[in-house]
Amino acid sequence: MVEHEIDYSAVVDILEDILGEHRLHNDYKGQISFDCPVCSHDIKGLDEGDGKGNLEINYKRGVFKCWVCAETHDTYGSLYKLLKKYGNAKQLKKYLLLKPEDDGEQPKRTFIQVRLPKEFVPFKDASLGLKMTPHYKQAFNYLQKRNITDLMIQMYNIGFCYTGHYEHRIIIPSYDSENRLNYFIARSYLNNTKMKYKNPEVDKESLIWNEHLINWDEPVYIVEGAFDSIFLPNSIPMLGKFMTQNLFNKLYDNAKKIVIVLDPDAWEDAFRLYHKLNCGKLMGKLWIVKLDGDKDIADLKGDLSGYEIKQLD
Ligand SMILES: [Zn+2]
Repeated sequence: MVEHEIDYSAVVDILEDILGEHRLHNDYKGQISFDCPVCSHDIKGLDEGDGKGNLEINYKRGVFKCWVCAETHDTYGSLYKLLKKYGNAKQLKKYLLLKPEDDGEQPKRTFIQVRLPKEFVPFKDASLGLKMTPHYKQAFNYLQKRNITDLMIQMYNIGFCYTGHYEHRIIIPSYDSENRLNYFIARSYLNNTKMKYKNPEVDKESLIWNEHLINWDEPVYIVEGAFDSIFLPNSIPMLGKFMTQNLFNKLYDNAKKIVIVLDPDAWEDAFRLYHKLNCGKLMGKLWIVKLDGDKDIADLKGDLSGYEIKQLD
């Protein structure tokens, strides 16, 4: 970890901008308290705060916690999380330029080892003719319908389960930079299903999807879903519309050029993400694509040739 001079008084200024006057402050420890924006404002409906200073922040460690509502209202975590929620874009940007490298959003070191379901059948094995069952055909039809080719199946080690906890689901595994499994998604291949996805319960916060396939010297595409990423080489799915701090840090440290391509219904999110990323070292390295209509990347088979890749003002 790089220990560099951090202007903590500037961090305190940002905090006071957002949370009002502080209550207690120990600048040696970097500990400061405020009235909690959740339980003394939102819940009690006060304009002023209750004067109790229950929200405690350690800006040297980049963490915060409310002593009253942390458990019930998720009022704890990284300082970044707090600023993202209560600060404006300018304050957040300022903080990101100042913040310590280790701002508390580091993945927790409690590894839950992800394993592929024991019922997992990789398509590449199944297609040897050993398992040409109706189950196989049904699962394989789904991939064909989504234009997934044999090459993609090989490259991503796609498979399926026809029994067990992940019964009737396509499995797409994700491997970290050292080729260790770190996640998988399980998408139903049945037409009528209540639950389209049923993914393992692990800390999604810390994982980068298929990082072993990423070449950081090339433009990195940011997409929403795992299926999108299959069609666009060198892309990382956020597995949702919001980016984790861990992925943000990874991009910040490694990316030379970033292209954001979210689904057409998420232009606002894409726009916000663009501006969130376009700061500090990443300034000017951001590009964005606006997809029309209701076509996502998978529908376009990853072909963005008809679209303008542009930078925003
Ligand atoms: Zn609180």
